[in-house]
Amino acid sequence: MKLTSIILPLLLFLLATAIPEETFSQQRFPAPEFESGYELPDVITPEPRALALEYGDVIVLLLFLLVTSWVVIKKRSRQWILWMSVGALLYFGFWRNGCICPVGSPQNMVLSLSDPSYAVSYTVIAFFILPLIFSLSFGRVFCGSACPLGAIQDLVIVRPVSVPVWIQKSLGMFPFVYLALAVLYAATGTDFIICRYDPFVGIFRMGAEFHLIVLGISFLLTGMFVARPYCRFVCPYGALLKVTSIFSKRHLSITPNQCIQCKLCTDSCPFGAIDKPTPDKLVHDIKGRTGRFMLYAAIIPLLMLIGGLALSSSHVFLAKAHPDVYLAHLLIDNPEVMDDLNNLDVQTFLGSDRTIDELVESAGEIQASFYTGAWFTGVFIGLVAGLFLISQYIVRRRTDYEPNRGDCYSCGRCMKYCPVQK
Ligand code: SF4
Ligand code: SF4
Repeated sequence: MKLTSIILPLLLFLLATAIPEETFSQQRFPAPEFESGYELPDVITPEPRALALEYGDVIVLLLFLLVTSWVVIKKRSRQWILWMSVGALLYFGFWRNGCICPVGSPQNMVLSLSDPSYAVSYTVIAFFILPLIFSLSFGRVFCGSACPLGAIQDLVIVRPVSVPVWIQKSLGMFPFVYLALAVLYAATGTDFIICRYDPFVGIFRMGAEFHLIVLGISFLLTGMFVARPYCRFVCPYGALLKVTSIFSKRHLSITPNQCIQCKLCTDSCPFGAIDKPTPDKLVHDIKGRTGRFMLYAAIIPLLMLIGGLALSSSHVFLAKAHPDVYLAHLLIDNPEVMDDLNNLDVQTFLGSDRTIDELVESAGEIQASFYTGAWFTGVFIGLVAGLFLISQYIVRRRTDYEPNRGDCYSCGRCMKYCPVQK
């Protein structure tokens, strides 16, 4: 099916919805007006949106994904991708304040699975699933021009340096570790750490805690020379997209036709995502590689066990990020804080109808769930480390210069370096 045959009906649908004006004019829960003179504090989280606007966001995301897929596969235009990145940055970044964004959505999905009282909206489900489906079909088109976090980094690339392969590969494991920890903290109802430490949200909302602004600016300054540092070495949703993109059905290609081995594209990718033809030496060294592959494959279960043991033995420390566990430890270890009127956490607790015994019981249950969760997380991290090791000894025979399907952000830069015409 042609992409245009999907885009057109969608555009018509968007126009045909003709949502009444009042649907857009209100946020869902307008702030109360206090007569006591109390003023609402400034918040950095965006206000809830009218349902029609939320659905509008899903349609806009879908359009971005459809058009980007068409641009990278058929139109093959870096210029189009660039302008769409600007559009995504303005719409999803500055207008929608970076929320809702697929990057943080795995946490909502996990919490809704682990806590039946937490309902996840259809919008969040769509934001989580759509980029993954497109990644399975056409590669990381979401990263190419629909992700505001990717767009803001892509637009500041000035003089990209090439990162040594071993550093790139080693640091490339961190997004999986971060994803595993984010799942642990979301599943235990502790926190949404991806959102809490989103470095660009403060920039999108033109205000945030000082450390977040510093973090965002540091990422942007680093990104002028090390292209897309958050995408490459941190983004946990990027880890999911990387895996799905490896299996993509149709992926962006550097050349529209036959590769003539001119090597003109080799240095065009600021992310080191172009794979060169496989050297003959490597192709013929099957015996040497197989030995190492078998060795590392055999130690994967050991790595998983070590990971599980290491993390589960740190469960008390990890659980302290949960407010109940933190408070229980604080009150037991330092009972004098109960007299500290400036400690808002303690005073709020003392003013509630919960007893210390109830708090300690709740903290114990949370620590127990952390113990189980930390086991799974550690096993997963051990598995990732093992797969990373054996992947070094898997060689795919390549005769042309090709984008690495897992690492390519579908930015389209390399396409314009290829002298071969359609
Ligand atoms: S890697 Fe993450 S932050 Fe970067 S563009 Fe992709 S989803 Fe966005
Ligand atoms: S399209 Fe992919 S391989 Fe080409 S320059 Fe962009 S990230 Fe690199």
